[in-house]
Amino acid sequence: MKPIQQSFAVQFEYGIYFTQNLFQTDNLLLRSTVQKGNTTPAKLFFVIDNGVAEAHPYLTQAIQNYTSAHADALKLVAEPLLIPGGEECKNNPEVLQQVLESINQHGICRHSYLVAIGGGAVLDLAGFAAAIAHRGIRHIRIPTTVLSQNDSGVGVKNSMNAFGKKNFLGTFAPPVAVINDSNFLLTLEDRDWRAGISEAVKVALIKDTAFYQSIKADAELLKQRDMAAMSRLIHRCAEMHVEHIGGGDPFEFGSSRPLDFGHWAAHKLEQLSEFNLRHGEAVAIGIALDVVYAKLKGMLSADACDDIVELLHSIGLAVYDEHLATEENKQLSILKGLTEFREHLGGQLTIMLLEGIGHGVEVHHIDEGLVTATVKELKLMQQRFSASTITPPSETQYVVSF
Ligand code: NAD
Repeated sequence: MKPIQQSFAVQFEYGIYFTQNLFQTDNLLLRSTVQKGNTTPAKLFFVIDNGVAEAHPYLTQAIQNYTSAHADALKLVAEPLLIPGGEECKNNPEVLQQVLESINQHGICRHSYLVAIGGGAVLDLAGFAAAIAHRGIRHIRIPTTVLSQNDSGVGVKNSMNAFGKKNFLGTFAPPVAVINDSNFLLTLEDRDWRAGISEAVKVALIKDTAFYQSIKADAELLKQRDMAAMSRLIHRCAEMHVEHIGGGDPFEFGSSRPLDFGHWAAHKLEQLSEFNLRHGEAVAIGIALDVVYAKLKGMLSADACDDIVELLHSIGLAVYDEHLATEENKQLSILKGLTEFREHLGGQLTIMLLEGIGHGVEVHHIDEGLVTATVKELKLMQQRFSASTITPPSETQYVVSF
């Protein structure tokens, strides 16, 4: 019998919005995002990162006030569910179960909205729950870290970790909308403020020399927590991620993953450090590793390499971590990251490297001996940086109202 051929295309569209004081009752952004096409009040269920709830004690009340003030358009089905922030929520299947149970208990349907507020980890986990419950509930992301506002929150992926591997479980599921409220960033620890900048350096390095130069020009302001400089960085970085995802291979069917520049080592490093390193911190080290490797391989000039490593350092990001040098059977453990990277993506090993600032190039082989030499060089670089006294910016208390 003749095979039956199926073919269809599905159009996805979502906005990434920038605002402040999202839950102030006269801010109509959330209302208008949800109201589109609805004639009856839309059911909303909030999942909130515990770290955000602690840093913003009035958030839950502000959400209740907001939904009450817009009761003709929005219906809060239950108290927000607080879940642990950071990698803990992606490592613990009980957190997923808890979100799914709440979805079931509160009758959240495919026309309701799961609104997740948090860092990249909570957004990944909540997005995964939303994608698998009823085969997909509408999902709105409200990212609260630099990294989630400029990268992880604006894309189409969600996940959790399993079998000791990052993002082993997950789906591709575009959100209904992403809402970036810069006020959330005010309460970040300094390390979380800085860590997310590495994803901007990453995308600039592979695609946009002008963006790289603008990050360099703003490096001191960024380190000193200047919000205008950070807003510029987040907007351009989010724009570049969105353009890349929409313009190429959004569901990653191919082997090429340019946005994972610096990530093959980063994911392994996060795991080796037992997730004591933040994702963005590991990405900074992963970038430094790939950049020094490219120099040793003769692909990238020494000047460009030094410029990039210096930029990471000037932002306050380390370029070396002791877990890079742990050994297993006389081989650096980090090298297992290559195998895991290939397994995760499938297909041919494809690693993005640089042949110049703003010019990424894909390779299909990594010289393991050269990685070992690279790790040694990174250690020396970090030692030199540490020797030239660095004064970290002081921790500051911020008060935020919604
Ligand atoms: P994170 O989610 O791990 O959060 C770090 C810490 O900051 C947590 O303790 C959290 O509670 C706290 N926090 C969050 N917002 C806060 C705020 N406004 N004030 C005070 N504390 C706050 O860190 P992250 O860097 O946002 O996300 C990293 C995660 O993102 C990793 O799991 C990584 O794998 C994932 N990621 C996903 C994608 C994707 O495409 N889906 C892309 C890149 C990274």
